Formats: sequence, C-alpha cells, structure tokens
Amino acid sequence: MRCTEIADLIDLHLDGALAEEPQARVARHLMGCAACAFEVRTLEQTRSHLREALPAVESSPSFREKMIARLNHDLADVLRPEPIQSESQWSLPFPRENAG
Ligand SMILES: [Zn+2]
Repeated sequence: MRCTEIADLIDLHLDGALAEEPQARVARHLMGCAACAFEVRTLEQTRSHLREALPAVESSPSFREKMIARLNHDLADVLRPEPIQSESQWSLPFPRENAG
C-alpha cells in the first residue's frame, strides 16, 4: 500500500471505520513507514485538541445523509459491510418453471 492510499484511509482508520483487511494493511504500513505513522499521530492529536476546543455541533440530518451516501459510494470496498437486512435473500420472486 502506498503512502497516498494511506492518507485517504487515515481518517477512517482513526474512526475505526475500516474493515478488517484494509485496517490490517494500514497498520502494517504504519509500522514500516515513519512518515505515515507521524501523520497519524499528528492527526490524532489534532482531533483530540479539536474535541476539547470546539463545542459539539450537530450536523443537519440531510448533510449527514449526503455525506454517508458519498462515503458509501466512494469507499464501498473498504468500509465494513452492512448487515444483511433482507429476510428472504434465497427465495426467488417467481417460480422457475417459466425460465428459458
Ligand atoms: Zn507511508
């Protein structure tokens, strides 16, 4: 994994939002790359300072929805999969006899 890819994933890494596999790859990279490890430490510190300095701001639901939709679209392959919600994923909507 390259440093530029790590930079894209650092935020998710800090949020614990990465799936196991990319999370492991990020962790492996950080062990061997001082520059990225430093970047992560800096970001972590910045975030905790921001949390202390700023009052909690609620983002509007529509903003959050848009962000989530964008993130799901951009990062579908690295985010944790959503739990399957469909009750009947194995049953077919039509009888098979008409197929063909
Ligand atoms: Zn790196």
